[in-house]
Amino acid sequence: MQPLADFLARVTPPQTPALVIRRAALDANLAAMQAACSAGGVRLRSHGKMHKCAALGQLQVAHGAIGLCCQTVGEAEIYAATGIADLMITAPTPPWGWPRLAALASATRISAVIDSHQQLANAVASGGRFDLFVDIDPGFHRAGVAIADAPALAAAIANAPNMRFGGIQGYAGHLQHAPNHDNGRAAANAAFTAQLRALVAELGAAGLPPPQVSGGGTGTYSLDIAGGVFTEIQAGSYALMDVDYTNAGAGEGEWPFQPALFLAATVVSANHVPLVTCDAGLKAFHSDGPPPRVVAGAAPGSRWRSMGDEHGAITHPGFADRLAAGESVASIDATSGRPADTPREGAIVWLQPGHVDPTVALHDAYWVADEAGHLQRWAIDARRTS
Ligand code: PLP
Ligand code: MN
Repeated sequence: MQPLADFLARVTPPQTPALVIRRAALDANLAAMQAACSAGGVRLRSHGKMHKCAALGQLQVAHGAIGLCCQTVGEAEIYAATGIADLMITAPTPPWGWPRLAALASATRISAVIDSHQQLANAVASGGRFDLFVDIDPGFHRAGVAIADAPALAAAIANAPNMRFGGIQGYAGHLQHAPNHDNGRAAANAAFTAQLRALVAELGAAGLPPPQVSGGGTGTYSLDIAGGVFTEIQAGSYALMDVDYTNAGAGEGEWPFQPALFLAATVVSANHVPLVTCDAGLKAFHSDGPPPRVVAGAAPGSRWRSMGDEHGAITHPGFADRLAAGESVASIDATSGRPADTPREGAIVWLQPGHVDPTVALHDAYWVADEAGHLQRWAIDARRTS
């Protein structure tokens, strides 16, 4: 692959702010995760909530994924309608969601996690046929049952009409966003894996061996494969990568994923020396996690910061210390010449989103670029679905 700046220089989206996928990097990421799962003898069920795009989901299946995970019923409806045949809802479904899942389940294999007997009753009442998984709380306390409560729920699923016991889900969300070999996280992940291993043995002894143990994400996938308990990896972010995961992977020798998603912004105003203003503000990027990283189109070391809903500042690195010390833009304007490597009005600045999932959900489409810069539009068709 050519250097990133050379690639981005070939890409001209029709308008901005625009999300651009580097197709070659996406393909490499999909192939790398698939290869790791295949080598470890586990299935890959990529998480479709990350990209919310049926075309991307189909590409993951073409690379060997057995299907997709979904976080919402609406995502499952979009993915099922475009022919993805094996879908799993990885968060507890609200009462109103079960009839919609039941409608899907006649033509599509639908798995869903539950963490209460009430949810099992809702599933049964919907009249659908489901593979139900017991969701295990990894200690994050977002959802899931305590390990001790899992066997009773598994038995209830096995005895419920039209339900199959699909297995268990253990997704350690709080352990994902750190380097694979960060010892604290690795140790915590190993402890959770050991609990799951003991639960699998207990269920087996009770005559309910879980057909699948599903979980794992981009941050822990290699630990999860090596741990030998998971049969299915649910990773999502690896496909596109964000600043958060790129930072987590820095220095990881075996980290095989590279940034594949970029946001193009146009410089709309350049009247001040230490910064230029672009058209990507809070409505273009989700603002949790690290800020977006400037990757091309501005002086190396330039930074983005919000200038409001529709605007972002790209600050020149030459003035970082003075701005950080509280000096005003006006005083820098009055005392400093404009650096030659300041982006011009109308220029494109390229950024890597800080956190991919919530950023993607703010946009209608990806522009998918080959290495020559030819663009194809992929709708983010599962955004705004609940
Ligand atoms: N599985 C579940 C249940 C999740 O909630 C998520 C993301 O939050 C994932 C998998 C994918 O994780 P990641 O994007 O870290 O790979
Ligand atoms: Mn995320």
